[in-house]
Amino acid sequence: MNRLDWPDESKFSICLTHDVDRIDKKWWHCLYYFCKTGRLYHLRSIFNKGRINPYWNFEKIMQIEEKYGVRSTFFFLEEKKRFEVTNPSTFSITIGYYTLDDDRIIEVIENLVKYGWEIGLHGSYDSYKDENLLRKEKKRIEQVTGKKVLGVRQHYLNLLIPETWMLQKDAGFKYDSSFGLRSGVGWREMKTVPFKPFEDEDFLVIPLTIMDVALARVSKDIQDAWGKIEAILKYAERNGCVVTVLWHQRVFNENEFPGWSRLYEKIIAEGKKRNAWFATCRDVYEWWV
Ligand SMILES: [Zn+2]
Repeated sequence: MNRLDWPDESKFSICLTHDVDRIDKKWWHCLYYFCKTGRLYHLRSIFNKGRINPYWNFEKIMQIEEKYGVRSTFFFLEEKKRFEVTNPSTFSITIGYYTLDDDRIIEVIENLVKYGWEIGLHGSYDSYKDENLLRKEKKRIEQVTGKKVLGVRQHYLNLLIPETWMLQKDAGFKYDSSFGLRSGVGWREMKTVPFKPFEDEDFLVIPLTIMDVALARVSKDIQDAWGKIEAILKYAERNGCVVTVLWHQRVFNENEFPGWSRLYEKIIAEGKKRNAWFATCRDVYEWWV
Protein backbone atom coordinates (compact mmCIF):
# COMPACT_ATOMS: atom_id res chain seq x y z
CA MET A 1 0.00 0.00 0.00
CA ASN A 2 1.39 3.38 -0.97
CA ARG A 3 1.39 6.03 1.68
CA LEU A 4 1.38 9.48 0.14
CA ASP A 5 2.26 12.94 1.18
CA TRP A 6 -0.76 14.85 0.02
CA PRO A 7 -0.74 18.65 -0.27
CA ASP A 8 -1.69 20.80 2.73
CA GLU A 9 -0.63 18.07 5.17
CA SER A 10 -3.70 16.07 4.25
CA LYS A 11 -3.68 12.36 4.96
CA PHE A 12 -5.86 11.43 2.01
CA SER A 13 -7.61 12.87 -1.01
CA ILE A 14 -11.20 13.19 -2.17
CA CYS A 15 -11.67 13.57 -5.91
CA LEU A 16 -15.15 14.82 -6.84
CA THR A 17 -16.68 13.98 -10.23
CA HIS A 18 -19.97 14.11 -12.14
CA ASP A 19 -21.03 12.22 -15.25
CA VAL A 20 -23.51 14.16 -17.37
CA ASP A 21 -25.59 11.42 -18.99
CA ARG A 22 -28.89 13.22 -19.42
CA ILE A 23 -30.11 16.77 -19.04
CA ASP A 24 -33.81 16.52 -19.95
CA LYS A 25 -36.47 14.41 -18.32
CA LYS A 26 -38.58 12.97 -21.15
CA TRP A 27 -42.14 11.70 -20.89
CA TRP A 28 -41.01 8.06 -21.17
CA HIS A 29 -38.67 8.55 -18.19
CA CYS A 30 -41.70 9.76 -16.24
CA LEU A 31 -43.72 6.69 -17.21
CA TYR A 32 -40.85 4.30 -16.64
CA TYR A 33 -40.11 5.61 -13.15
CA PHE A 34 -43.80 5.74 -12.27
CA CYS A 35 -44.14 2.04 -13.17
CA LYS A 36 -40.94 1.19 -11.34
CA THR A 37 -41.56 3.12 -8.11
CA GLY A 38 -45.33 3.77 -8.07
CA ARG A 39 -44.62 7.40 -7.10
CA LEU A 40 -47.24 9.78 -8.49
CA TYR A 41 -44.60 12.49 -8.63
CA HIS A 42 -43.20 10.91 -11.80
CA LEU A 43 -46.58 10.98 -13.54
CA ARG A 44 -47.14 14.57 -12.53
CA SER A 45 -43.74 15.56 -13.83
CA ILE A 46 -44.91 14.77 -17.39
CA PHE A 47 -46.95 17.94 -17.19
CA ASN A 48 -44.25 20.02 -15.54
CA LYS A 49 -42.30 20.34 -18.76
CA GLY A 50 -41.37 23.93 -19.43
CA ARG A 51 -41.69 24.93 -15.79
CA ILE A 52 -38.97 22.88 -14.20
CA ASN A 53 -36.56 20.35 -15.62
CA PRO A 54 -35.50 17.98 -12.82
CA TYR A 55 -32.56 16.67 -14.83
CA TRP A 56 -30.85 20.06 -14.94
CA ASN A 57 -28.88 20.61 -11.71
CA PHE A 58 -25.62 22.29 -12.69
CA GLU A 59 -26.23 25.48 -10.73
CA LYS A 60 -27.11 23.52 -7.60
CA ILE A 61 -23.89 21.47 -7.83
CA MET A 62 -21.81 24.59 -8.36
CA GLN A 63 -23.43 26.24 -5.34
CA ILE A 64 -22.77 23.25 -3.08
CA GLU A 65 -19.13 23.02 -4.10
CA GLU A 66 -18.60 26.78 -3.98
CA LYS A 67 -19.95 26.79 -0.41
CA TYR A 68 -17.05 24.52 0.64
CA GLY A 69 -14.48 26.07 -1.67
CA VAL A 70 -13.99 22.86 -3.66
CA ARG A 71 -14.13 22.00 -7.37
CA SER A 72 -14.93 18.85 -9.34
CA THR A 73 -14.61 17.26 -12.76
CA PHE A 74 -17.64 17.09 -15.08
CA PHE A 75 -17.51 14.40 -17.76
CA PHE A 76 -19.69 15.33 -20.77
CA LEU A 77 -21.08 12.82 -23.25
CA GLU A 78 -22.03 12.89 -26.90
CA GLU A 79 -23.83 9.61 -27.53
CA LYS A 80 -24.30 8.84 -31.21
CA LYS A 81 -25.15 5.15 -31.02
CA ARG A 82 -28.02 4.21 -33.35
CA PHE A 83 -31.44 3.31 -32.06
CA GLU A 84 -32.59 -0.14 -33.23
CA VAL A 85 -36.31 -0.61 -33.03
CA THR A 86 -35.98 -4.41 -33.03
CA ASN A 87 -33.38 -4.45 -30.27
CA PRO A 88 -34.73 -3.33 -26.87
CA SER A 89 -31.27 -3.54 -25.30
CA THR A 90 -30.29 -0.45 -27.33
CA PHE A 91 -33.18 1.71 -26.07
CA SER A 92 -31.61 3.04 -22.87
CA ILE A 93 -28.24 3.61 -24.51
CA THR A 94 -29.49 5.44 -27.60
CA ILE A 95 -32.43 7.67 -26.73
CA GLY A 96 -32.96 10.76 -24.61
CA TYR A 97 -29.41 12.08 -24.76
CA TYR A 98 -28.16 15.60 -25.52
CA THR A 99 -25.55 16.85 -27.96
CA LEU A 100 -22.65 19.21 -27.47
CA ASP A 101 -24.34 21.58 -29.96
CA ASP A 102 -27.03 22.33 -27.40
CA ASP A 103 -26.78 26.04 -26.47
CA ARG A 104 -27.55 25.26 -22.82
CA ILE A 105 -24.64 22.82 -22.69
CA ILE A 106 -22.26 25.24 -24.40
CA GLU A 107 -23.19 27.95 -21.92
CA VAL A 108 -22.87 25.75 -18.85
CA ILE A 109 -19.49 24.40 -19.99
CA GLU A 110 -18.26 27.96 -20.53
CA ASN A 111 -19.32 28.84 -16.99
CA LEU A 112 -17.78 25.76 -15.43
CA VAL A 113 -14.47 26.41 -17.17
CA LYS A 114 -14.54 30.11 -16.27
CA TYR A 115 -14.98 29.42 -12.56
CA GLY A 116 -12.39 26.67 -12.21
CA TRP A 117 -14.21 23.38 -12.78
CA GLU A 118 -12.59 20.73 -14.94
CA ILE A 119 -14.25 19.30 -18.04
CA GLY A 120 -13.50 15.75 -19.15
CA LEU A 121 -14.94 13.47 -21.80
CA HIS A 122 -17.59 10.91 -20.92
CA GLY A 123 -16.68 8.45 -23.68
CA SER A 124 -19.78 7.22 -25.55
CA TYR A 125 -21.04 3.67 -25.14
CA ASP A 126 -18.90 2.05 -27.86
CA SER A 127 -15.86 4.30 -27.64
CA TYR A 128 -14.04 2.03 -25.17
CA LYS A 129 -13.12 -0.18 -28.14
CA ASP A 130 -12.89 2.42 -30.90
CA GLU A 131 -9.90 4.76 -31.04
CA ASN A 132 -11.26 6.82 -33.94
CA LEU A 133 -14.46 7.50 -32.03
CA LEU A 134 -12.49 8.49 -28.94
CA ARG A 135 -10.34 10.85 -31.00
CA LYS A 136 -13.41 12.41 -32.60
CA GLU A 137 -15.13 12.90 -29.26
CA LYS A 138 -11.99 14.37 -27.70
CA LYS A 139 -11.67 16.86 -30.52
CA ARG A 140 -15.34 17.78 -30.26
CA ILE A 141 -15.30 18.45 -26.52
CA GLU A 142 -12.10 20.47 -26.90
CA GLN A 143 -13.83 22.64 -29.49
CA VAL A 144 -16.52 23.42 -26.93
CA THR A 145 -14.22 23.97 -23.94
CA GLY A 146 -11.54 25.79 -25.93
CA LYS A 147 -9.00 23.85 -23.86
CA LYS A 148 -7.08 20.63 -23.93
CA VAL A 149 -9.09 17.88 -22.26
CA LEU A 150 -6.89 15.59 -20.19
CA GLY A 151 -9.19 12.88 -19.02
CA VAL A 152 -11.95 10.46 -19.83
CA ARG A 153 -14.46 8.25 -18.10
CA GLN A 154 -16.26 5.67 -20.22
CA HIS A 155 -20.07 5.62 -20.16
CA TYR A 156 -21.33 2.58 -18.15
CA LEU A 157 -17.68 2.18 -17.04
CA ASN A 158 -17.14 0.11 -20.18
CA LEU A 159 -13.55 -1.01 -20.05
CA LEU A 160 -11.38 -3.63 -21.70
CA ILE A 161 -8.19 -3.99 -19.71
CA PRO A 162 -5.68 -2.99 -20.91
CA GLU A 163 -6.99 -2.36 -24.46
CA THR A 164 -9.18 0.64 -23.59
CA TRP A 165 -6.34 2.35 -21.72
CA MET A 166 -4.08 1.87 -24.74
CA LEU A 167 -6.68 3.42 -27.04
CA GLN A 168 -7.25 6.32 -24.66
CA LYS A 169 -3.52 6.96 -24.36
CA ASP A 170 -3.05 6.81 -28.14
CA ALA A 171 -5.96 9.21 -28.59
CA GLY A 172 -4.07 11.71 -26.41
CA PHE A 173 -5.70 11.35 -23.00
CA LYS A 174 -3.59 11.60 -19.85
CA TYR A 175 -5.86 9.79 -17.44
CA ASP A 176 -8.84 7.46 -17.24
CA SER A 177 -11.32 7.24 -14.37
CA SER A 178 -13.47 4.28 -15.42
CA PHE A 179 -11.87 1.63 -13.22
CA GLY A 180 -14.50 1.02 -10.54
CA LEU A 181 -17.41 -1.10 -9.37
CA ARG A 182 -20.80 -1.06 -11.10
CA SER A 183 -22.43 -2.55 -8.05
CA GLY A 184 -21.17 -1.92 -4.53
CA VAL A 185 -18.62 0.58 -3.32
CA GLY A 186 -14.95 0.66 -2.45
CA TRP A 187 -11.83 0.17 -4.50
CA ARG A 188 -11.84 -2.37 -7.30
CA GLU A 189 -9.04 -4.88 -6.68
CA MET A 190 -8.08 -2.67 -3.72
CA LYS A 191 -6.32 -0.19 -6.01
CA THR A 192 -6.65 2.61 -3.49
CA VAL A 193 -4.41 5.12 -5.24
CA PRO A 194 -3.86 6.09 -8.90
CA PHE A 195 -1.57 3.87 -10.92
CA LYS A 196 0.20 3.78 -14.25
CA PRO A 197 -0.90 0.76 -16.28
CA PHE A 198 2.05 1.19 -18.64
CA GLU A 199 5.27 1.58 -16.69
CA ASP A 200 7.09 4.25 -18.64
CA GLU A 201 4.13 6.05 -20.05
CA ASP A 202 2.67 9.30 -18.89
CA PHE A 203 -0.84 7.89 -18.47
CA LEU A 204 -2.64 7.48 -15.19
CA VAL A 205 -5.64 5.48 -14.00
CA ILE A 206 -7.58 7.24 -11.24
CA PRO A 207 -9.77 4.48 -9.75
CA LEU A 208 -13.41 5.24 -9.03
CA THR A 209 -14.41 4.52 -5.42
CA ILE A 210 -18.01 5.58 -4.76
CA MET A 211 -20.64 5.84 -7.50
CA ASP A 212 -24.15 6.97 -6.52
CA VAL A 213 -26.12 4.34 -8.47
CA ALA A 214 -23.80 1.52 -7.43
CA LEU A 215 -24.07 2.61 -3.80
CA ALA A 216 -27.87 2.76 -4.04
CA ARG A 217 -27.92 -0.83 -5.33
CA VAL A 218 -26.36 -2.14 -2.11
CA SER A 219 -27.91 0.22 0.46
CA LYS A 220 -31.17 -0.23 2.35
CA ASP A 221 -31.63 3.51 2.75
CA ILE A 222 -29.73 6.79 2.94
CA GLN A 223 -28.49 6.08 6.46
CA ASP A 224 -27.14 2.72 5.42
CA ALA A 225 -25.46 4.37 2.41
CA TRP A 226 -23.83 6.93 4.69
CA GLY A 227 -22.47 4.13 6.92
CA LYS A 228 -20.72 2.62 3.90
CA ILE A 229 -19.29 5.99 2.86
CA GLU A 230 -18.06 6.76 6.36
CA ALA A 231 -16.22 3.44 6.55
CA ILE A 232 -14.47 4.23 3.26
CA LEU A 233 -13.46 7.71 4.41
CA LYS A 234 -12.04 6.32 7.66
CA TYR A 235 -10.08 3.66 5.80
CA ALA A 236 -8.80 6.24 3.31
CA GLU A 237 -7.65 8.54 6.08
CA ARG A 238 -5.73 5.74 7.79
CA ASN A 239 -4.13 4.48 4.59
CA GLY A 240 -3.52 7.56 2.45
CA CYS A 241 -5.98 6.65 -0.30
CA VAL A 242 -7.74 8.59 -3.02
CA VAL A 243 -11.53 8.46 -2.73
CA THR A 244 -13.00 9.24 -6.14
CA VAL A 245 -16.68 10.11 -5.87
CA LEU A 246 -19.14 10.05 -8.78
CA TRP A 247 -22.53 11.73 -8.33
CA HIS A 248 -24.44 11.93 -11.63
CA GLN A 249 -25.67 15.36 -12.55
CA ARG A 250 -29.35 14.40 -12.53
CA VAL A 251 -29.17 12.86 -9.05
CA PHE A 252 -29.08 16.30 -7.42
CA ASN A 253 -32.84 16.83 -7.76
CA GLU A 254 -34.54 16.23 -4.42
CA ASN A 255 -37.82 14.99 -5.93
CA GLU A 256 -36.06 12.51 -8.18
CA PHE A 257 -33.53 11.16 -5.70
CA PRO A 258 -34.60 12.20 -2.19
CA GLY A 259 -31.67 12.69 0.15
CA TRP A 260 -28.90 12.06 -2.36
CA SER A 261 -27.67 15.60 -2.87
CA ARG A 262 -27.50 16.01 0.92
CA LEU A 263 -25.49 12.81 1.06
CA TYR A 264 -23.05 14.26 -1.45
CA GLU A 265 -22.74 17.42 0.60
CA LYS A 266 -22.17 15.33 3.72
CA ILE A 267 -19.19 13.65 2.04
CA ILE A 268 -17.64 17.06 1.44
CA ALA A 269 -18.38 18.26 4.98
CA GLU A 270 -16.94 15.08 6.50
CA GLY A 271 -13.90 15.25 4.24
CA LYS A 272 -13.30 18.85 5.30
CA LYS A 273 -13.53 17.78 8.96
CA ARG A 274 -10.93 15.10 8.31
CA ASN A 275 -8.73 17.54 6.38
CA ALA A 276 -8.89 15.68 3.08
CA TRP A 277 -7.20 17.20 0.06
CA PHE A 278 -10.06 17.98 -2.34
CA ALA A 279 -9.06 17.65 -5.94
CA THR A 280 -10.37 17.44 -9.46
CA CYS A 281 -9.05 14.54 -11.53
CA ARG A 282 -6.69 16.99 -13.22
CA ASP A 283 -5.31 18.04 -9.82
CA VAL A 284 -4.71 14.40 -8.91
CA TYR A 285 -3.03 13.77 -12.26
CA GLU A 286 -0.78 16.81 -11.93
CA TRP A 287 0.15 15.93 -8.36
CA TRP A 288 0.94 12.37 -9.28
CA VAL A 289 3.07 12.62 -12.42
ZN1 LIG B 1 -22.63 7.56 -18.11
